[in-house]
Amino acid sequence: MKILQATSLDNGARGDDYNWCIEGEIVTFGFICDRDRRDPENGCGCSRGFSGLASHHATTTALVRATTLSEDDVRLAVESSLSDGGWLRSLSLSPQEADRMVDETLDFMLDVAEYYDDGTVIGTSFDCTYVRRHSTTSV
Ligand SMILES: [Zn+2]
Repeated sequence: MKILQATSLDNGARGDDYNWCIEGEIVTFGFICDRDRRDPENGCGCSRGFSGLASHHATTTALVRATTLSEDDVRLAVESSLSDGGWLRSLSLSPQEADRMVDETLDFMLDVAEYYDDGTVIGTSFDCTYVRRHSTTSV
């Protein structure tokens, strides 16, 4: 299955790039603050970022990568990250609501990863993603 990983590839090509993630860690889509929703050009930049599951930091570039990880492996990583970040507690979610939050976070990330070729570098803006660098490994 394909996943999204933090990458430094193509990062810095845009003046508003940032990358505070651990290279290669699994990333997903984080929460977007009201400041960015109201004024993306002058917000904090979170609407352009992917969220690192391990570091809890962000990057504007993600690499689509085919791995041998199972969906259960990636789900555990997502659940652990959301739990570590306090999201599953602070929102006072029921166990069913917490499971749904994990599933929605996982499903969106996996759907995006599945859409692109292995090796593609992508960017994001709110709920959209786009190619920053085409895969050089696919034909
Ligand atoms: Zn923000």
